[in-house]
Amino acid sequence: MNHPYGRLSYNKHGGITATIEVMKVPEPRGLSYKKNFNIFINVRTVYMSKSIGIDLGTTNSVAAIKKVHTEIIKNAEGEELTPSCVTLQFKKGLIKFFSKENFVVGRHALEWLKQDPANTVTAVKRLMGRSVNDPEVQKIIKSRRSANSIVTHSRGTENSLAIVLGEKEFTPEQLSAKILEKIHRDCEAYLGDDVEYAVITVPAYFNDKQKHATRTAAALAGIKVQRLLPEPTAAAISFGVDNVENDDARTVLVFDFGGGTFDISVLTISGGQFIEQGKGGNMWMGGEDIDYKLIDYVLSRTSEEYEIEDIHAFINDQETQVKNRFSAELKRVVEQAKIDLSDREKTTVELLGLLKDSDGDLVDIDVDLTRDKFEEIIAPVVEGAMGLVKKLLEQIHFTTDIIDNVLLVGGSSRIPSVIRAVKDIFGEEKVLLHKRPMLAIAEGAAILSHRLSDALECPGCGVQVSQSEKSCPDCGFDLDSHMISHSVYDIIHSAAHDYHICLDNGEKYLLIEKNTPLPCERTERFRLVHKYQKLVNMKFVNMVNDEEESIGDLWLGIDDSMREKLYEKWYEWESGSGEGAKEEDSGEKPFDPESPLSVDVTLRIDENNLVEVAASIVELPDAEISKTLSRGKADEKLFIALEELINETNAGDYDSYETTEITSRTIMIISDINKVIDDHTGEVIEPVYELAQRNIETARKLVSEGITCQSLIYYCEHVLQRFGVLIPPGERERINKKKKHLEDMMLRGTYQENVDAYEALDKVFDKSPMISVLMTLEKAVDLCREHEPARSAKFVGAIHSLTSISDDEGKDAVAAKFEKAMSCLPEARELIAKYDNIKAKIYKGITK
Ligand code: ADP
Ligand code: MG
Repeated sequence: MNHPYGRLSYNKHGGITATIEVMKVPEPRGLSYKKNFNIFINVRTVYMSKSIGIDLGTTNSVAAIKKVHTEIIKNAEGEELTPSCVTLQFKKGLIKFFSKENFVVGRHALEWLKQDPANTVTAVKRLMGRSVNDPEVQKIIKSRRSANSIVTHSRGTENSLAIVLGEKEFTPEQLSAKILEKIHRDCEAYLGDDVEYAVITVPAYFNDKQKHATRTAAALAGIKVQRLLPEPTAAAISFGVDNVENDDARTVLVFDFGGGTFDISVLTISGGQFIEQGKGGNMWMGGEDIDYKLIDYVLSRTSEEYEIEDIHAFINDQETQVKNRFSAELKRVVEQAKIDLSDREKTTVELLGLLKDSDGDLVDIDVDLTRDKFEEIIAPVVEGAMGLVKKLLEQIHFTTDIIDNVLLVGGSSRIPSVIRAVKDIFGEEKVLLHKRPMLAIAEGAAILSHRLSDALECPGCGVQVSQSEKSCPDCGFDLDSHMISHSVYDIIHSAAHDYHICLDNGEKYLLIEKNTPLPCERTERFRLVHKYQKLVNMKFVNMVNDEEESIGDLWLGIDDSMREKLYEKWYEWESGSGEGAKEEDSGEKPFDPESPLSVDVTLRIDENNLVEVAASIVELPDAEISKTLSRGKADEKLFIALEELINETNAGDYDSYETTEITSRTIMIISDINKVIDDHTGEVIEPVYELAQRNIETARKLVSEGITCQSLIYYCEHVLQRFGVLIPPGERERINKKKKHLEDMMLRGTYQENVDAYEALDKVFDKSPMISVLMTLEKAVDLCREHEPARSAKFVGAIHSLTSISDDEGKDAVAAKFEKAMSCLPEARELIAKYDNIKAKIYKGITK
């Protein structure tokens, strides 16, 4: 007996069991209590919302759900595939009055492409997590492939890009979110239920930025991500659950050749476990590239036929509307011809009545295409794909006979010459074309989503049971062994790329090798490059198809208080007293002040492919930082600005006062930037962002004007420490107050507040010539020690004679001492002029 809110069945006690589904009650499941009349009521909390799998494809997106069986969820148009196409429509004349954007996604958007290509976006996935300067993005911008205007996002970093639709900027994440929103909406309508969670698939070689961008898109669409699943792994799951028996173990190479991307992955499937052995592919290779090769061919044939010298210029000269329609239609008919040739030997590419020459005569596209010719045209693409397959096998040290099956998925895997090429490598019998090549990935995602849900439907009786149950409490069905043979028991992911850290000499150091099983962690010790180094900038990069891709930076600042502690410890050790001395027995120095400090860098990748980095200065336990890489764009933008400031300073003609200023301010700014992104929500904390941004500008401006607050503070501290007794207590207090104020302003003051605070403190010393003379002499001593030790005695004597003046000395004696000190001043000044403006550099690198 089924009822919308539950089920009644006879139980083994002869009573009736009422299974009542209590919606959205976050209590433990499986509560059961006895009622009168021998009725057992099993109250189970079943989350009302469902979870699904989404293949967010470059060309098409698909959603699926697993209940007892896996089912593709049809969209509002009644179709399984939703074209990943987004358009922003304007109703003429109304745009001024309605500020709300009217986004259309899917089939209807694709139709709209002919009308308004500039405001219609396809293949947005290719832009996810990329910058405008990315060579591949530049290629898209320069080629005639995209009618969209792709720019650097005005509010993001130089590293983020925007697509301009109707004068407004949209990030790829925002547009991708529109696709996800439609899928989400359509799924809820189809299932008549809330859908809260999803497993979303991503290409295996997506880097962390791209994965992060996908997570952001899902969040914008109101979907909670259970896991980002590599697409080939998803395909393997959908294949494995039906084809690999419980006691069988099979190694499968998934060959996913789609519209925009080519993804390969080797997995071992055994007992419901899916172990990723290796990944490869090329995210810029797919059916679209084949389409453009065909377009080139068709256009060149047409130009021959009509004797048009420059066909691109000819098309460009057409009316805008004709041009737009022509480009979109040509792409469509060429793609159709390509698809036809998967089943037929020849076809014709026809596009009539659109283009006209200067006399008004029609220039029609009417080109015959045989499969042989087609295969010749696409041979370089097929060869390239096979090259990548061989490369992956080499990388993971697999021979072709280790591979039990090759599973072909993705639309472009239907091309006969592609299938033939794969068979040539692996042998006819191993190669399987997935029964539903364009749906397999969504199915795999749905199976995993089901596995990751709290509750699942018992395949025996259809009742919702908790994920933790080993057998169905209702019908006794063996859930555990079903899981092993028909579902995903576990997935062991592997690192998609090599992870390196950049060294100061420009070399890269490999931290985690591609295909290492996840989760994994590696800690390595590096050295800073300079003994007084206060900044450590660690750059992490991925190697993707032999090209370097930045995945983010980690910055660590060593402030004076940390270093002072270290010097104290060292001093104790040196002088053989105090706690530090114990270490002398073991022959170990706490640190060597003459050599650079060491830094331990840890890179961690969890099973969700989230990358976390941490660094700590070995000698300074207080100096440590850890964070998740590439989460936000805002913090990255600030770090880039900060790096620029340092590079400018190093390239410019700055002395040690000025570099000290930049260094100190940088340390403060780093600590702010590390707080810009809210750890929990991933959002930008605006006031912190603005403060850090302003502080970078303030630092630049102050230094360019020679205002060096940090050096003045050091000077002040030194004066108080060395000659404090010579200053009256009231004056001392004033100095301290002004110094404190300047320190505060360095942290959060505006440019003008910094200038004012600096001048206020500087003036105090102006008024005290005696201090000024003493400090000049002291500075000369310091410089002598560093450069000309033999000359220092004279200045030390002069300082001594000044500081030894006491109240009971006669006037003449005081005058003589003063005279002696003053006579050294010109020489001291000459020394300072000689050595004190030596160009200084800010160090921030690491070395092995
Ligand atoms: P993606 O995962 O990138 O979204 P799909 O796996 O959905 O891509 O495949 C779409 C691509 O497959 C398109 O380029 C389409 O032209 C191509 N395609 C679809 N069917 C066929 C076919 N029968 N023969 C050749 N190419 C096909
Ligand atoms: Mg795909």
